[in-house]
Amino acid sequence: MNQVDLHLHTTFSDGTLTPTEIIEISANRGLKYISITDHDSTEGIDEGFKAARQYSDLELIPGVELSTDVPGTEIHLLGYFVDQNDSEFQNTLSVFRDSRKERAKRMVKKLSELNVKISWERVQEISNGASIGRPHIAQAMVELGYVNYPKDAFDKFLGRNAPAYVERIRLTPSDAIELLVKNGAVPIMAHPTFAIPNMNKDGLSKLTEMLVEMKEAGLAGLEVYYGLYSTEETNKLRTIAEDLELICTGGSDYHGSGNPEEAKIGTVGPPVTTMDLLKNSRKMT
Ligand code: AMP
Ligand code: ZN
Ligand code: FE
Ligand code: FE
Repeated sequence: MNQVDLHLHTTFSDGTLTPTEIIEISANRGLKYISITDHDSTEGIDEGFKAARQYSDLELIPGVELSTDVPGTEIHLLGYFVDQNDSEFQNTLSVFRDSRKERAKRMVKKLSELNVKISWERVQEISNGASIGRPHIAQAMVELGYVNYPKDAFDKFLGRNAPAYVERIRLTPSDAIELLVKNGAVPIMAHPTFAIPNMNKDGLSKLTEMLVEMKEAGLAGLEVYYGLYSTEETNKLRTIAEDLELICTGGSDYHGSGNPEEAKIGTVGPPVTTMDLLKNSRKMT
């Protein structure tokens, strides 16, 4: 078990555990630092801080995850030590959440045209006021037996190149980094293999190119410890990060999604020494 897990989702976006449950599990597993990083929302942070007061050995880092658009794929950015009281930032997040809702509605309609009859009401019930995402739609599809697991819903219908996919408002990576920096948050590129699935020579040089550009905009780190990354993958990513003087961070990206082979809370993350690097980086912004 690790001592740090800096990528966790709650019921305030597409996770299935509440912030309180995440904190309790993390504390029971002996974690020292965790971050709640919901999609386009910091609404779970207060509950997380409240629950964390019970556990003096556990520190909660307030975080957020933003999705950005690059041709053909997407890049997710994590922001650590996000200032939730920044009203301009909150206004922007709420525009993103509205766009998520409209997009989800359109995806349900598209699914219906493809003879997948899930109801918008049920999707709203599942999301229960959270920052709505495709996993909520996937869950409704699992419930009605259209697919066995959420990931199958992505493969067949909801993924970027699948028939029920609908776009939503997204920033460029540089704009998202700027938004985070302006807020005082420390920007990190999440799960790089999302954007670069093939870590061959071409893939790695494309990733390096992206990172150089993002670093100019203020990127501070790269998620090299992630979910089910192999040691080999992590080592390749760590070499790139170190060459570019980016902080090596990471976490499980736990959602409690019900997919088989999901990394559990606290099973993956950076060493404790990373926390000092992140805290120093915060002071510099
Ligand atoms: P959205 O925020 O609506 O764009 O949905 C993105 C979220 O869906 C990610 O954060 C993951 O939780 C989940 N997701 C993305 N791709 C897949 C996939 N292939 N299988 C299962 N879940 C996925
Ligand atoms: Zn998610
Ligand atoms: Fe992500
Ligand atoms: Fe995530």
